[in-house]
Amino acid sequence: MANRSNQQNLDKKMEYTPSTERYSKMRYNRCGWSGVLLPAISLGLWHNFGSVDDFETGRSIIRRAFDRGITHFDLANNYGPAAGTAEENFGKIMKLDFTGNLRDELIISSKAGYYMWPGPYGEWGSRKYLLSSLDQSLKRMQLDYVDIFYSHRPDPETPLEETMMALDTAVRSGKALYAGISNYKVPEAKRAIEILKQLGTPCLIHQPKYSMFERWVEDTSQPGNHSLLDVLEQNGVGCIPFSPLAQGMLTNKYLKGIPADSRAAKSHGFLKMSEITEERLLQIRALNEIAEQRNQSLAQMALAWLLKDKRITSVLIGASSVAQLEDNLDCLENPLFTVGRIAPGRSNIKRLKRAAIALSGKFEAVVRHYSSFDPHQL
Ligand code: NDP
Repeated sequence: MANRSNQQNLDKKMEYTPSTERYSKMRYNRCGWSGVLLPAISLGLWHNFGSVDDFETGRSIIRRAFDRGITHFDLANNYGPAAGTAEENFGKIMKLDFTGNLRDELIISSKAGYYMWPGPYGEWGSRKYLLSSLDQSLKRMQLDYVDIFYSHRPDPETPLEETMMALDTAVRSGKALYAGISNYKVPEAKRAIEILKQLGTPCLIHQPKYSMFERWVEDTSQPGNHSLLDVLEQNGVGCIPFSPLAQGMLTNKYLKGIPADSRAAKSHGFLKMSEITEERLLQIRALNEIAEQRNQSLAQMALAWLLKDKRITSVLIGASSVAQLEDNLDCLENPLFTVGRIAPGRSNIKRLKRAAIALSGKFEAVVRHYSSFDPHQL
């Protein structure tokens, strides 16, 4: 009894009134050819919001995110750990802080595709799994509907038509407003987009992994010479890259070792210590020097680098503290990649060369990396 009234007192003390300035600084981009605008930065709850994490920290991050114009929160059935607890915690935060009509100011997404429950119907892309999972997600989040429901990964064994029909049903039933796909490579993305179009539920958005360290979405060596980004643009589908900071590697976090509270150090963290190699650190240090030249943090530069491409609707970040969130959001204050940002001079050419060597061994590659740099003017 005493515990319950203590909790009620704490909740009261933590009462939340969203900032009246929340829409004054964020940039909102149209998602493909749809009517939906997404904030340039969205927040994902893959890590930091599960039952292993501190609830009040997660709650503060979400409140601050909304105060700074983040209207889009991304979840999936399996986020935690334990799986499902990120959705449960998010549901609690919605009930505590996002009351009244605030739900109408939010775009909330969830996904199904990875392992969620035992037996033959607990993962991949069957209609049975997707629609049961959506019902479970809505219950956990205490919501009537999600804004976007994704097929989290393609299923090589289920006909793509079946998976896409499940998304179409989710939308027609009103349990989701839009359909999305994630982790689909070019040929299967093209087919999924086509099937959804025929069903009358256009694909709103694709969620691929994309960062300075992971650039497969730009690859034009596929049949037809179209990259995933080309395909999305040609079909009016938005793009929201996940892990834009390479899970924290594209920040100053690992410059001086592996901090005990970092994702790489946590047993449940998806980033493994073995991924932070000497070669990676060389790249990180070189990029960090360029970021310093631009008077911004490496995290800010990594996000601005993605957002310079008009095909990117929003970048989907994670954050384990309010301070990280603030740092990342400030990327919007220095978005440009122009020659003028890095003043011509030998030391800058040296820096770029070092970054180029670290990234791919070619000077031209890094110049393309900063695509609006003209190498001849440097
Ligand atoms: P990021 O690449 O943005 O990595 C986030 C992590 O980087 C944070 O948790 C934190 O790690 C560290 N970090 C963030 N900002 C800073 C900063 N300014 N300074 C120092 N460190 C910082 O994204 P995620 O990998 O978290 O992915 C983002 C979202 O994308 C997920 O929440 C999810 O919604 C989605 N996603 C989708 C997938 C899919 O298959 N569709 C797969 C993976 C993610 P630390 O804990 O070490 O502090």
